[in-house]
This record gives sequence, structure tokens and C-alpha cells, in this order.
Amino acid sequence: MEIKAGTAVKPSELELARQLEYIRMIREKNDAFEQANGRKKKFYSLAMGCQMNAHDSEKLEGMLYEMGFEPTEVEKEADFIIYNTCCVRENAELKVYGKLGWLKHYKEVKNPDAIIALCGCMMQQETVLQTLRQKYRHVDIVFGTFNLYKLPELVATRMESDRTVYDIWQEHQEVVEDLPIIRHFPYKASVNIMFGCNNFCSYCIVPYVRGRERSRTPEDIIAEVRKLAADGVKEVMLLGQNVNSYGKNLDNPVSFAELLRMVNEVEGIERIRFMTSHPKDLSDELIKAMAECDKVCKYLHLPVQSGSSEILRQMNRHYTKESYMEIVRKAREAMPGITLSTDIIVGFPGETEEDFQQTLDVIREARYSTAFTFIYSKRTGTPAAVMENQVPEDVVSDRFNRMLDVLNPIVHEVHEEQVGKVMTVFAEEVSKQNSSILTGRADNNMLVHFPGTEDMIGQMIPVKIIDNKTFYLIGERI
Ligand code: SAM
Ligand code: SF4
Repeated sequence: MEIKAGTAVKPSELELARQLEYIRMIREKNDAFEQANGRKKKFYSLAMGCQMNAHDSEKLEGMLYEMGFEPTEVEKEADFIIYNTCCVRENAELKVYGKLGWLKHYKEVKNPDAIIALCGCMMQQETVLQTLRQKYRHVDIVFGTFNLYKLPELVATRMESDRTVYDIWQEHQEVVEDLPIIRHFPYKASVNIMFGCNNFCSYCIVPYVRGRERSRTPEDIIAEVRKLAADGVKEVMLLGQNVNSYGKNLDNPVSFAELLRMVNEVEGIERIRFMTSHPKDLSDELIKAMAECDKVCKYLHLPVQSGSSEILRQMNRHYTKESYMEIVRKAREAMPGITLSTDIIVGFPGETEEDFQQTLDVIREARYSTAFTFIYSKRTGTPAAVMENQVPEDVVSDRFNRMLDVLNPIVHEVHEEQVGKVMTVFAEEVSKQNSSILTGRADNNMLVHFPGTEDMIGQMIPVKIIDNKTFYLIGERI
């Protein structure tokens, strides 16, 4: 990046220039390694958790690539290993500790020069940092969610010293735009429209580890979407923890509905998706914009969490079962045929059988095409962790199974309704099981498998649905 003398430079541009300089320095060292050893250094990158992390990892990978590392999917041949961690549920954290045990052996026996980096949500917790300092001293670089762009500087620092580099910030400072990136799919891309969350749902750790809500300006977002379109991207996913409160704190406030209309105008983009939409802020204006924008997919991910208004109150969600179902009704009225998906938590503290039955009611009424279902996980530091009446494990697991018994037949029926229809499927990749089958998504987000060849990837293909496998559909090209 060139900065011309005399031009006004934003602090974020200076920061980007600084990191690019670190990238250049590391690349020199990695090139020298390649010359001496006849091979490039390799990096292995693992993103855990949500789409935000997956997208952050695309940037981490882009920076590592520019530093002269090449990607590998084989962890045990990597010279640089980076885990972008999640802490939304306990399982995700346990997985990281399990892998760190293996990495200690890897470093001792196989590759003593390997660099291990940990970043993301889990690292924003003091208890985790203490555990790492005491038990996992073989980790080389630790950083959090607010300073991802500093990876090059942290790698350079680690290369100069033999001590673990810790760099954890407590809050966000600035958004550094235009980081190098390796996109996981050539024809579809995620775009952050905002970071952080202000909602403090009582079970959720995200606001503590991702900080307060901040929106990117529409100008920056549209510039990124235009650039993606020029690169051949046809589908964008607009990402935020609660996209419905997008733009409220900008100097010139803009609503999410207005942003959708702007993205809808970008030439070359054919499909627009977004997540996540918090029901408490979902406006009539947004439903209207979704209905009117031809590129916005007629699919809405609308996390309900629980069907009991009392549990929703305890969860600090600010809507009721009735107001949630009213949104579903309005969305269906404005967009007949729209598909809905959701997130559900079973076993929140104090959940009674009656509360649970209300969740089943919502599943039956909303008729989701898919749902992400979770067993409540106690997260230290959140209000729900100290609530009385934590539900016993056996009761929770029984409810969870009974929920699936209600949910899965509905998911099957909703998919069955598509059989015989012709859908436009965006061909995304070759099936991992069968190289003559492509997988892609219909506008309504349903996964479709159909016969095809690799050159069709990135195209919109008309497909007739001939069979239903509950969680995906089988089609044939017409
Ligand atoms: N911002 C999004 C929203 O409000 O729906 C969701 C973000 S969160 C990373 C994804 C999902 O994880 C949530 O919708 C919720 O269902 C689930 N989740 C969050 N905290 C949880 C916890 N402590 N136990 C179980 N599931 C949890
Ligand atoms: Fe967590 Fe609630 Fe924020 Fe979603 S809206 S990230 S569930 S606090």
C-alpha cells in the first residue's frame, strides 16, 4: 500500500501499512527458508464456531499467505498452526484443550520450530489465559477478537524472541479495512456489516468477548461488495450478531433495510443473504425491503431460543412467543413460500415441562426448514450461570431428544413440499463423496445435490427436485 506525502491518512490506513511492512519482513525470512530447504513453510488454520469466526479466519489465512506460508489441510505437517476459537458453549473450549495436548507432543517430537497461535473469543477470558500460562506453555502467540489485524506484527515478534506473545485487548479500537484475504469460496463471500453485540442475552458470552456494537459505514460495505462483484462473487452474506440494529450508531444513521436496498443495487451480485436477525428489532421496513429487493433471498434465520415467554424474559430477549409468531406471520404474508430457520436452546435454568412444550408449539407453528439446536451450556460470567434451578442433565437430554422427534419430521415435510418444483441452484462445490455430484443452495437456502461437472461451479443452475433426504434435496438438471 502506497501512502502519498501530503495526503490525509486515517489511523487505520497507517495501521494497515505497518502490518503490511511486517508481512514483507516475514516473507523475506520465509523465502530464505524456502531457498535453504527446498520447500515452503505451511500453515494449518482452524475456525471454530460461527460464520464470523469463519470469515475472520479468511483474513488470518490471507495474511499468512502473504507472509509466504502456504496452506495445508494436514495439521501434522504444518509449521504454523492457528486456531480461531469459540467459547459460546463449553464443548468448543474442551476441544481446544484436547488439541493443545496433542500439539505439545507434536512440537516436542515432530517439529520443535512449529509456531502455535490461538485467537478468537475464548482468548478474551482471563480464566483461559491463566490456564494457558500454567498448563500450555508450548503455545507461542495468543491474541483476541479486537486485534486480529495485528497477526503479522505478533508473528514477527515471536520470530525475534522465544517467549509466548500475549496481546489481548479489552475493547475495540478501530476497524482496519482491506486486509489480505483468502476466500473459502470463489463465488460467494461474507461481508461484516457490524461487529460486537449490545444485547446481553442472559446465557450468552458473546457481548463479553466481542465488545459493544459498531457498524461499518455503508460506503465501506458497498465498496467491498462492489470489489467482490468485480472479482466474480455472485452471492454475499451480510454478517452481524444482530443485523437489525445495524447503523443506529453511525454519524449518519442508516437502517439495515436501507443497507439491503443499497446492496441490492450492486451490479454483478445475484443473491444477498444475511444473519443474524434478532426478533426484537425486526421491523416492518425490513420485511418490506426483503420482499421488494429481487436479489434478497426469501429465507430468514430468526433465532427463537425458547417458545416460553417467561423463559424469553429470563433470557433477556425482549420479545414474547406471540410477538415472535406475529413476525413469522408477517414475513409469510409478505413473502409466500419464504423458508425460516432458527436457533433453539433446551434446558435454560428454570425451564419447566410446560415451558418446553411452548418451544415445541413454536416449532410446529413456524415450520422451520432447519434449526440449530443447543443444550444450554453454563458460561461463567453470564447472569444465567448463577441462576437457581439449573435443569438436571437427564431432564435436558430427554427434552432435547423429544424436541428432535418433533422438529425432524417437520424439516422432512418442508423439504418434501419442494419435490417436483424447479429451483435455481447456485452450484457451490463438488460433493466430497461423489465427484459427479455438485452441491449448492436454492434461494430458500435448502441444500441441493445434483449431477454436474466442476466447470458449473459458480453458476445458477435450474434444477428439478426429484427426491427429499430430509436435510437436503436431490435434483436433476433441466
Ligand atoms: N447473535 C445471534 C442471535 O442472537 O441469535 C446468535 C449468536 S450465538 C453465537 C449462536 C447461538 O448460540 C445462539 O443463537 C444460541 O442459540 C446459542 N447459544 C449462545 N449461548 C449459548 C449457551 N450458553 N448455551 C447454549 N447455546 C448458546
Ligand atoms: Fe448472544 Fe444475544 Fe448477542 Fe446473539 S444477540 S450474540 S445470542 S447476546
